[in-house]
Amino acid sequence: MKRYSKLRWVLLAAGVIAILGLTGMNVYSLYQLHESTIETDQEPKKLQVAEFADRVRYRFFKPFWGLSSTSIEKLQSHFEKTNQFTEEVATRVQEAAEDSIFTDVYFIPANTEACQQNRFGYKYNKAHQQLIPSSNISDIVCDGMGIARTQMRALIHDYRYNNKVTFDTNRSVTVVLVNPSEKTIFGYVTMPINQTYLTERFLEKELQKRFGPPEESGMNVWMRDWTNNNIIASSNEQANYDHDKVQFKQRFPDFFDNWNLEVAFTGSSTIEASNASLTRNLIVLIAGVLLLLGALVFMFISAQRERALAERQASFLANVTHELKTPLTVMQAAGENLSDGRVQDQERLKSYGNHIFEEAVRLRKMIEKLLDVAKADAGQSLIEPKPVYLDELVQNYLDDHEEFIRDKGFTLEVNMDNDIPKTMLDENSFNTILGNLVENALKYSTEEHHLGIYLDASDEEIMLKIVDHGIGMTKKTINHIFDKFYRAEDTLTAETKGHGLGLSIVQNLVELNGGTIKVDSTPGKGSTFTVIFPVLTDMPSDNSDKPTEPTSNKRSIPLTQQSENYVS
Ligand code: ADP
Repeated sequence: MKRYSKLRWVLLAAGVIAILGLTGMNVYSLYQLHESTIETDQEPKKLQVAEFADRVRYRFFKPFWGLSSTSIEKLQSHFEKTNQFTEEVATRVQEAAEDSIFTDVYFIPANTEACQQNRFGYKYNKAHQQLIPSSNISDIVCDGMGIARTQMRALIHDYRYNNKVTFDTNRSVTVVLVNPSEKTIFGYVTMPINQTYLTERFLEKELQKRFGPPEESGMNVWMRDWTNNNIIASSNEQANYDHDKVQFKQRFPDFFDNWNLEVAFTGSSTIEASNASLTRNLIVLIAGVLLLLGALVFMFISAQRERALAERQASFLANVTHELKTPLTVMQAAGENLSDGRVQDQERLKSYGNHIFEEAVRLRKMIEKLLDVAKADAGQSLIEPKPVYLDELVQNYLDDHEEFIRDKGFTLEVNMDNDIPKTMLDENSFNTILGNLVENALKYSTEEHHLGIYLDASDEEIMLKIVDHGIGMTKKTINHIFDKFYRAEDTLTAETKGHGLGLSIVQNLVELNGGTIKVDSTPGKGSTFTVIFPVLTDMPSDNSDKPTEPTSNKRSIPLTQQSENYVS
């Protein structure tokens, strides 16, 4: 049996690990599925946001769309002669000048020292449809043009197109006019952006048109200046921006460098259904796993218990056979000698008789115990409860056993409350209970031979305590002492006679009589067994039917006549 014990533990561990592993995998798959549902649902929305960013960019390019077919050489020679653009380019510049998103249109030829040594350039006059020389080009134009010039310096050698659009974030847009065959720059058309129009008229309106209301689009979108932590425009005026709720960010690389489109998805029926299904699946899974683990552990513990019981029963059978045989052999030998008539001497006759008597008593006790257990197992323990005074029953027991206890070298401390009320109890059961507890206290005390018996009462219960200063018990032992055939695994118990039945009988009888039993014990210090019975409530708890004894209400207790709390 021991051989399989390790295997059982290994199998239990393997079972638990397998269940937990499978659960982990399932939870992972459920989350994966949920994530991919969310992703599938959000993917088209993210695309919409990216498309929107493209539209915004296109908005600034619009006037100059198609400029790539223009000959910059022609434009350059025309400008050198007239200080004006060709008609083809002028049409586009006019369009830009009329576009409310730009405040003005400036042109700075590349071969001047504009924005370096001086502030000379050209400002486009949309009323006269021509370039007018200007000597005070603003900072904003110079900054935009400066950024364009720096960018082009790095690009010009490999540049193949005739124009390049650059942004000074949201401040200005510059169209660089390039001569790709000569790798030269002709000039910079710079247009400061109209901030109010951009944010209030264009972005706010476009965002609301595209992404509002959130019930339809499934998202709230904000244009946010992340350097200043400032919301520029939003798709839904009612939705307050919450950084923690943002699930997706669309950047504007190369143009609104400081701005992001930030998106909070507001959930859709697909995601709600997926959430609900995830919760449902997790609950079912966890409940299933707990059930499986519970069943596995329960089966394991029951198997362990069954095994321990079977082992104890086997050893009990071996012991009991031996112990039944011993008195029988003694009785048989003594009886044989007596019946032969070989023993004539009076002393020896008496001693043989004593032997037979004592062994018969031992045998009877053992058989009684076995019968008690058998009856308890079959649910046939018969009790005859009557209203009794426990102090009287304890005293009766002491009258019979006090001498025996003292002879064993024990000091006896008895303390019983006055006015112990009546309780409903079977007298024989009580004697067995008290007898077993006292017997154990005597059996399991080695160094300090002390026995305490205490009886207390409250309004509801009567408490009997049997206290010893013996070997005590570990927590593990306490958990099993009421099990049938259980005996602690220590040397004293091994050397002491017993079968591990006494406390199982005690517990059975206490419960049959409506009481409870509990144990407090410290290894090496001793044990306290407390038995509690309910007070008999439907009868007056006065002492009227007790015999009135002049000295004390512990009238039949000679011990307490010496002192309330005495040690002998
Ligand atoms: P038995 O005494 O015949 O072995 P019991 O059922 O009366 O059987 O007790 C079960 C076990 O509980 C004992 O074997 C012993 O290990 C432990 N035990 C019981 N009473 C005490 C006690 N007063 N002090 C220490 N151990 C005890």
